[in-house]
Amino acid sequence: MKPTDVLIAGAGPAGSLLATMLCRDGFAVTLLERSQPRQHMPEETIPAAAGPVVERLGLAPLFAREKFFGTPRRGVCWSPGGTPEISCTNLTPAERGFKVVREVLDRELRVMAVGAGAHILDATVLSIDAAAQNVRLRLTTGKEQVLTAPVVVNALGARGARLSASVQEGFPDTLALTCCIDNAGADADITVVEAVRAGWLWWMPRSIGGSVLTLMADAGEVKSTGAKSIFESACRSAIGPARHVRSGCDTGTRATPELFSPTWGILHCGDAAAGIDPLSSQGLLKAMLSAERTAAAVRTLLATPTLRRSVEEHLQAFHAGAWRIHAQETLDWYRREQRFADAPFWKARHTLQARYAPVTVSLPTMFVRRARLVPAPLLVCEQGMLRERTGYLSPHTNEPYHQVGPISVDQLLRMTELPGRFEDVCRRALAVQGMSLHSEGELRTVLSEAFRLGFVESFRAELPRAPSAQHPMQ
Ligand SMILES: Cc1cc2nc3c(=O)[nH]c(=O)nc-3n(C[C@H](O)[C@H](O)[C@H](O)COP(=O)(O)OP(=O)(O)OC[C@H]3O[C@@H](n4cnc5c(N)ncnc54)[C@H](O)[C@@H]3O)c2cc1C
Repeated sequence: MKPTDVLIAGAGPAGSLLATMLCRDGFAVTLLERSQPRQHMPEETIPAAAGPVVERLGLAPLFAREKFFGTPRRGVCWSPGGTPEISCTNLTPAERGFKVVREVLDRELRVMAVGAGAHILDATVLSIDAAAQNVRLRLTTGKEQVLTAPVVVNALGARGARLSASVQEGFPDTLALTCCIDNAGADADITVVEAVRAGWLWWMPRSIGGSVLTLMADAGEVKSTGAKSIFESACRSAIGPARHVRSGCDTGTRATPELFSPTWGILHCGDAAAGIDPLSSQGLLKAMLSAERTAAAVRTLLATPTLRRSVEEHLQAFHAGAWRIHAQETLDWYRREQRFADAPFWKARHTLQARYAPVTVSLPTMFVRRARLVPAPLLVCEQGMLRERTGYLSPHTNEPYHQVGPISVDQLLRMTELPGRFEDVCRRALAVQGMSLHSEGELRTVLSEAFRLGFVESFRAELPRAPSAQHPMQ
């Protein structure tokens, strides 16, 4: 067997996709996975917006073959006040998104990785040593073994993240209490998300018939009230399909959104880098995007090992940036439900909102690029590799930037070379190649962000000086 280039711990969606991409590049990859049934949601949804990523990763034929299609209707009961009611939407095929059976998805992604050349070892990872770049594992025979490779990736999901990372920031502890229902009755074609005092309920019909009902609840409240009691009272208070459910929950899984800070020397991918709130339904999309960026990091590391520190910093910044955007979006959604503001689940999330509110600044009437900016090297992801480029240090955050949103800092500086108003910059933007693609709204957002970072500053046109009056005595 060829010596392993990359050791990937965990063959969930993130680990398997990463392995497939790297094997297709010709690297020797070993995947470590313990065969254990998944604890939580048997099926998960992926929003329609993920379509292009699903296509790009070559997963569309798999999704079509397995009929991983979202339900034809979506219901939401989430109201800021007044009488709660469920608003139902009929979805066109393009709007339905996907609903995947996790056991099938995970199995097929592993088959894909093996097909691409990955070697899978049925083993439980016991520890990861960053300094020695090795992984200690237990085989199914009970024998322990230590494996090493030039690059080690932790893709063990949220729980396994802790083997080589600590929690950097996170939401209040959340528990997903789930129950499987045999007969979905009249609600077999609709996915419903419903806010209740204890948290929110998620009704999802299964492809094999029946449905899954999950309550996302505050872990502290579950501990003090009891899982059965909190689940049953949530169902009793529901107005959606959950109101018919009389059984208690079968499983409880931790579902706390957390951003991890990896130990230097180990790359993290998927939920092991950051786990987001299930409310966004974007965990799998994030796993796909994380696998793509981690693949770029691995290729770069294997080609230029001296860049290790910058590559690890780049990957961590990528995950932290994505996590914070998800946090903002999710907390914004929680803010829209005000009926239960005093209940533990909602109170904790409303309090957290202030911390993640996007920093918005409004663009001054007249502005101009800052005269002296300090150039700084940084890595930029281009065509599947991280490349060394020169950016500029933000005078306000002291972090290097090559782009602000979709626009390069160089382009921004060119457009704001001369003082002007927003309309002047819009006109100049048309003259910059490629810039006419951006809408005025997008350009305003980018310029506001550039102002926040200090790349452009407010400009006050100086009034022409009045000629100095002659002193009568002169
Ligand atoms: C309640 C709940 C509902 C969710 N709903 C959705 C949804 O609807 N849509 C969505 O997109 N996302 C959803 N998510 C998020 C989604 O499940 C994750 O984002 C996704 O599974 C991340 O993939 P991953 O490969 O990073 O991690 P995982 O899927 O967790 O894979 C990690 C792999 O590592 C293996 N492993 C772990 N520890 C060891 C060990 N010590 N040794 C060997 N192997 C090990 C595991 O067996 C597993 O195969 C939900 C999450 C929760 C908790």
